Amino acid sequence: MTSRFEPLTVLRHFAAARAMRHRDRAALGAWQRRRLERFLAHVLPRAPYYAPWAGKPLEAIPVAGKALMMREFAGFNTRGIGREQAMEIALRAERSRDFRPAIGDLTVGLSSGTSGNRGLFLVSSAERLRWAGIVLARALPRHLFARVVSPWREPLRIAFFLRANSNLYTTLASSRVAIGYFDLLEPVEAHVARLMDRPPDVLVAPAGILRLLALAALGGRLRIAPQHVISIAEVLEADDVPLIARAFGQPVHQLYQCTEGFLGYTCALGGFHLNETYVHVEPEWLDAERTRFVPLVTDFTRETQLIVRYRLNDILRVAEPCACGNPERTIAAVEGRTDDVLWLADTSGTRMTAVFPDLVRRSMLFAGDSVRDYRVRQHGDELQIALESESVESSGALVAGELARLWDELRVRPPRVRFTGMPPSVAGAKRRRVEYAGGAR
Ligand SMILES: [Zn+2]
Repeated sequence: MTSRFEPLTVLRHFAAARAMRHRDRAALGAWQRRRLERFLAHVLPRAPYYAPWAGKPLEAIPVAGKALMMREFAGFNTRGIGREQAMEIALRAERSRDFRPAIGDLTVGLSSGTSGNRGLFLVSSAERLRWAGIVLARALPRHLFARVVSPWREPLRIAFFLRANSNLYTTLASSRVAIGYFDLLEPVEAHVARLMDRPPDVLVAPAGILRLLALAALGGRLRIAPQHVISIAEVLEADDVPLIARAFGQPVHQLYQCTEGFLGYTCALGGFHLNETYVHVEPEWLDAERTRFVPLVTDFTRETQLIVRYRLNDILRVAEPCACGNPERTIAAVEGRTDDVLWLADTSGTRMTAVFPDLVRRSMLFAGDSVRDYRVRQHGDELQIALESESVESSGALVAGELARLWDELRVRPPRVRFTGMPPSVAGAKRRRVEYAGGAR
């Protein structure tokens, strides 16, 4: 049920988020400390699992992850909701496609999770409205924001491509924002027809879908002129960025949003900022040079299902501070999942070396334009590489040359490499270009 006050609440959070600017890193740190203190003192003890850590500093609290949160589901929320109860409601919502709040003011959602362990999440109405306000404030450029608050102008039209709808996302809709939801399970031709029918001002989709739409636009089959393009949910591949930008005449923005929270966004200058005004991010460094880290997230803005020192399954690559003056940490990219890292023995054969997915992607780019798309999968000591190309043989030779250079640079033993053509794609499946299938470690 939508109360008539909901849009006002969203607007209030929106305005607060817009007004929130920290002078420098120190000011942001002070703000975070105040918020964290309040969270640790008043919210944390309300979740049974965390009660023993009431009054303790953040560093003393154990690191959590999806498996632990699912196992201790009732202990991780402040409303005493059990896992069975939540799961039953989530499954019912999936089947009926009715995603309205199901337990009082709480929405239960189900995240897909590629490795079979599905995540359950709980969000209250208040959190939902705050989230909507903050996302709109961070994701919309100034001129589109002006349109939202000008009642005499047409509502803003957003095309939103999602795997499963949720009450969370429908919160964004109002009389000023019209959102069209596109189901990723539908074929691209259906999307093209619908987009042409009602051309969106803002296009929000996983990178792989943006790529397909861009190809349709460049091929003359899709004629739309969105004023803002946002990539979500998948790694935005370096070679897709210019393609999408050329197709729509707009730079590609990013939203780093997952069930664990709203974690990042790109600013007007294109800097990819972490959402540190609302979440605390501790880097768990992956290399001695501190170029890549896994984030431990503490969301001091949430009060229902607690996200405390929660280890995400993502690798982030650091970037220089952004020239826009916003001191929120910037990252170069979300490189992929921690389990997409390939492992190869070093030349002495004594230890395993991590080969970050981004390094493999770079080599594939260097191999040139004849490789239109690819998948790299490690299986034990073999790399299976599928190529979309005129000739798998000649492109394969170029790729093999680039990879040889990479192995040399990393001082690892060259794995066996097997080239094939690209298998047909599955609608709705998450695109993972580089993947570790196990067996090497
Ligand atoms: Zn910036």
